Amino acid sequence: MKNKRTHSLNFLSRLIFLLLSPVFFQYFAFGFIWHSIYWGVITFVIIIWSTLILISPFFGRIGCGWFCFMGTIMDFAGKHSFCKTTYNRPKTWIKLLILIPFFTSAFTFYFLNKEHGLTHNFEVNPDFLPLNMDMHYKIVWMCDIFFAILIAVFLDKRWGCRHLCMMGTLTSIGAKYSRLLVVVDTNECTNCGRCEKECLSAIPLLNYIKDNKGLIANPECLLCGKCLQTCKSNAISLKFIWNRSKYKQENKASSNSFIHGS
Ligand code: SF4
Ligand code: SF4
Ligand code: SF4
Repeated sequence: MKNKRTHSLNFLSRLIFLLLSPVFFQYFAFGFIWHSIYWGVITFVIIIWSTLILISPFFGRIGCGWFCFMGTIMDFAGKHSFCKTTYNRPKTWIKLLILIPFFTSAFTFYFLNKEHGLTHNFEVNPDFLPLNMDMHYKIVWMCDIFFAILIAVFLDKRWGCRHLCMMGTLTSIGAKYSRLLVVVDTNECTNCGRCEKECLSAIPLLNYIKDNKGLIANPECLLCGKCLQTCKSNAISLKFIWNRSKYKQENKASSNSFIHGS
């Protein structure tokens, strides 16, 4: 019941952010981070994403699994993907190839603007980029959505999140230390593999259940709750684990019985 509630809340949150995206697009879309740096202003989009990056060592990739409308679109479109979702480690060189030009070009323009006295020295002005629903804005919004659908259908649902998105890259660094984790109760788990099959990021959950005492400590976990909803044994939950080693130590005995029983 508790798990179903988590999944329902997740669904509601994603739906709200998806519906809000045409209006508040520039508060969520990364392209506007570039514009904010260009002008040297701390805008809403910078505040929102900096917060999500800063809290990732505690709350993992909650922004990716609960708020990001691009992720939601990829999940919907990915249901009709031509590719089977498989887990493969994100490639660092592709991520750097995106991150470096993005920030280098934005800061280059910032310093050029500064020379001409056009920057704002990174003053905090959340509303600096005013909401503007003109044709240019709508075209960018539609292009982003089209791009997300294209990737999800022709690659796989979260391929873009794992390999392309710079916010995914930055939040996954913090998520390595996340205190909020998906946890499997190894006493309840029947090793059916349903959670692994349904995982949006195709994380090899069964390996984590066996080798990591049920702690799904993978930085690609989006905390989306899909596995919670899938598990018929109600063995999965989202928990704050402050000390991973202590948790694993405490769960050693029960985990051993799981391994021998499987
Ligand atoms: S990785 Fe990027 S696109 Fe994917 S959900 Fe996270 S922020 Fe959104
Ligand atoms: S769906 Fe539940 S019972 Fe099946 S493997 Fe995953 S955690 Fe275990
Ligand atoms: S492990 Fe569960 S919560 Fe994490 S990404 Fe996979 S389905 Fe979502």
